[in-house]
Amino acid sequence: MQPSPPQKPGLLPAIPRLFTAKAEPVAAEAPTADPQGDPTAEDDDVDGFTTKLGPRPLTIVSVDLDDLSCYHAIHGLPPPPEESLGLVLERCLPRYLELFDELDVRATFFVIGRDLERDLNGSGKGAKLLQQALAAGHELGNHSYAHAYDLTVRPSAEIFDDVLRCDQLLRAIGADPIGFRAPGYTHDRNLLDQVSALGYRYDSSRLPSPMYYLAKLGAIAWMATKGLETVSQKRGWQSFIGPSQPHFMPEVGMWEVPISVSPGLRLPMVGTFVLSGPGSLAAQAAVRRFLHLELHGIDLADPGSDTTPGDGFVKALRKRQPELKVPLKVRLERLRTLLLARGGCTSIARAHGWAGIPTL
Ligand SMILES: [Zn+2]
Repeated sequence: MQPSPPQKPGLLPAIPRLFTAKAEPVAAEAPTADPQGDPTAEDDDVDGFTTKLGPRPLTIVSVDLDDLSCYHAIHGLPPPPEESLGLVLERCLPRYLELFDELDVRATFFVIGRDLERDLNGSGKGAKLLQQALAAGHELGNHSYAHAYDLTVRPSAEIFDDVLRCDQLLRAIGADPIGFRAPGYTHDRNLLDQVSALGYRYDSSRLPSPMYYLAKLGAIAWMATKGLETVSQKRGWQSFIGPSQPHFMPEVGMWEVPISVSPGLRLPMVGTFVLSGPGSLAAQAAVRRFLHLELHGIDLADPGSDTTPGDGFVKALRKRQPELKVPLKVRLERLRTLLLARGGCTSIARAHGWAGIPTL
């Protein structure tokens, strides 16, 4: 498919009050036909969110700004050097901001409170970049304070304190968060209840890809045979099934905005596979009518090599993390091509305004 010019900002409809706190839980008067959705339906087959868009496709872009300690913990590696903890905020985030500015893309950045706090107590460079993102029209979302992969099994009060702490840090830099994404996508009713208590409008934790979940189980089992410990969780399989369309959850008074999966196999439309995989998933992503592309900060990291330092990753992580085996230039170009092909890419909050859903 030939790339088309990016959407000009002037062509976007006016954005209603998106970054405002929710006064009351929204009523269960959702425009989607079935709040539970149809787990077997493909994106383009469901009435509601996408059918409101007319002939134009909708592309949501979200970026999780997980720092290196998350990846080290998943792969059973020792904690990364202290000086590399700010790498994702200070090195990768500017690459996103520059690319998104070039292509008139707006996105949702999910921020870990612990990382923001560390930055505010240190150089403050990351916080300045996040404020720059806000000023450019991007959305900042809550990715929890500590990014605990087992957050759902903690006591309710601890869960609430964790998400509140991240919320307060985001507000301290001028954001007005309305959305949440759980660490490792693993969420449940109790976690959503705590998020809803903050007045949030949506959750975006669901990754309805059973294949991803099975692959994760496989990785955990493989690591066990090697004697490696991982923070990845076997629990939470419910987060990896279900509808792939945005839908209202009356039981918690919030919307769920799932990450997109491919038709058929339901492979996840996430940066690790779309930018670093064989290319067929990127081709599918380019032509979907509705796409919620989920990226991570590390997707635009420079791994360097044995002779060039890049962003300063430890060699062990370069060997284990798929993105870091593909040169940054290649991933950047794949992302640019995909975003150009889609056109009109936007944040979760703006997408809701754009689709005319009245509850946001
Ligand atoms: Zn994360």
